[in-house]
Amino acid sequence: MPSNAQLDFLAADAPNALERLKALVSIPSVSADPAYTPHVHKAAEWLRQTLSDLGLDARVMPTGGHPAVVATTPGSLCSAPAGTPGFLYYGHYDVQPPDPTDLWTTPPFTPTMRDGCLFARGASDDKGQVSCFLQALRAWIKTVGKLPVPVTLLIEGEEECGSVGLGSFLKEQRELLTRGNSFVLVCDTRSWDIDGVCTPAVTYALRGLVYFDIQLHGPTRDLHSGVFGGTLANPATLLTRVLGRLFDDQNRVTLPGFYDGVAPVTDEERARWAKLGFSEKEFLAEAGVTVPFGEAGFTTLERHWVRPACDVNGLYGGYQKAGAKTVIPTFAGAKVSFRLAPGQDPTRIARSFETWLRGQNVGGCTWKFQQFGEAHPVQTPTNLPAMAAVRRATKAVTGHEPAMIREGATIPVVAEFKQILSLDTILLGFGREDDCIHSPNERFRLANFELGCKTLTLLLGELAKG
Ligand SMILES: [Zn+2]
Repeated sequence: MPSNAQLDFLAADAPNALERLKALVSIPSVSADPAYTPHVHKAAEWLRQTLSDLGLDARVMPTGGHPAVVATTPGSLCSAPAGTPGFLYYGHYDVQPPDPTDLWTTPPFTPTMRDGCLFARGASDDKGQVSCFLQALRAWIKTVGKLPVPVTLLIEGEEECGSVGLGSFLKEQRELLTRGNSFVLVCDTRSWDIDGVCTPAVTYALRGLVYFDIQLHGPTRDLHSGVFGGTLANPATLLTRVLGRLFDDQNRVTLPGFYDGVAPVTDEERARWAKLGFSEKEFLAEAGVTVPFGEAGFTTLERHWVRPACDVNGLYGGYQKAGAKTVIPTFAGAKVSFRLAPGQDPTRIARSFETWLRGQNVGGCTWKFQQFGEAHPVQTPTNLPAMAAVRRATKAVTGHEPAMIREGATIPVVAEFKQILSLDTILLGFGREDDCIHSPNERFRLANFELGCKTLTLLLGELAKG
């Protein structure tokens, strides 16, 4: 690894960086629960103060929901010639609720070092990763007094509860957030082990999401199944029959046109992934499962990263308590979601699902649908000019180029950056699969914190080289 003033600073300042991360994760900024709202505001203010102290123009800005922290680089704080392209850094300062708190070994908002890891809610997702970027800014400002490229930061406060107000905020603040910026950098994903070396990973595709609550309504009241059984439509029986028809024997989704537009996996991707050493066995073991299951003709990794999928996320209706109660329920319901691959349009899939449901024979029962948002799938170009800088920075720190991976989950804001700000996103991740994000005992390895700080510090310098 090259030795330079910024890396020397990181080494010397590491204990202080850890203390600052501890201070940030001590603030219980749980966005989903209104009881925590004062703490959400406190975390926003903590970030604003930290960025202001570094010399950035930082402010806490109202959105429709929790406020966003936005910071820009004043000309005097940047050593690049005027007009040098910068980028938008996005992260979030809110966290998931800590429940169930009794499963935490140490309290979720009392950061504790153990086994080389910092344990706290938000230690990894996303305060730990945001802190890597703050430390990279600090490394430059404290050594040469300036940043090598202009940066704009957007750190939002409601990512963990759906970023509800963010879309309109991006529209309102489009000018401020895009001025001089050529891409978005997001650090909220995972790293990948290459030959036993933990290496930052670029996640270049995400699946989209469509989510429904569907209900099938029949008789006006619960009926005696001895009297009425076999004479009229039972909504619970018919709902499960319809849900069963949603899949064929090859575990493919039967909605007409469902797979239209889904890009095939290229040989080049297959060859690249083969080198990643993905273990199907370990992936399934993590879930307590030994048998893979899914769409015929695809590997577990392809099902996980590339292929669209449909899941029944919940079923309800009818008699649920102890023993036997002989009823035909008045209604039954299900939560059904679709994970969408790049090329699929969530609105088209949602309408197609409704049309398909209405076309099923449900014996005179009636449907009620409620849709909970939709998120577009994302595929970001891997040949953005900034990617060369990402590769150089990663290689300098780890000896490896970043792993190029995809992700089965959804980060809705990435599609919005493209649609609203017309900016592509590079998702550069430093977390680990076993960070227990969203779960008890969330943690961030110090080694990963250091990896993020170093890589982002070098990245700023590499971006300045163009
Ligand atoms: Zn996150």
